Amino acid sequence: MSIKFTQSCPTCGRRIDVRASLLGCTVACQHCGAEFIAQAGGGSPVGRDQQDELFARVEQALRRAEASAAVPAE
Ligand SMILES: [Zn+2]
Repeated sequence: MSIKFTQSCPTCGRRIDVRASLLGCTVACQHCGAEFIAQAGGGSPVGRDQQDELFARVEQALRRAEASAAVPAE
């Protein structure tokens, strides 16, 4: 039997079925044809948390910049 898992294409974001035997191999998206490394974990791509943290930091920095811009410099 062939075990399959679902992964989101990093290029088009659509869900694709990947055979478990292809884990770690380069596979092609069934929708857009983009090639990427098959990873287990379905809807939670590796590095998601790091990405969120990065976005949070960028947001903070932007807010700080806005706040300092709003305060008249002495
Ligand atoms: Zn795709």
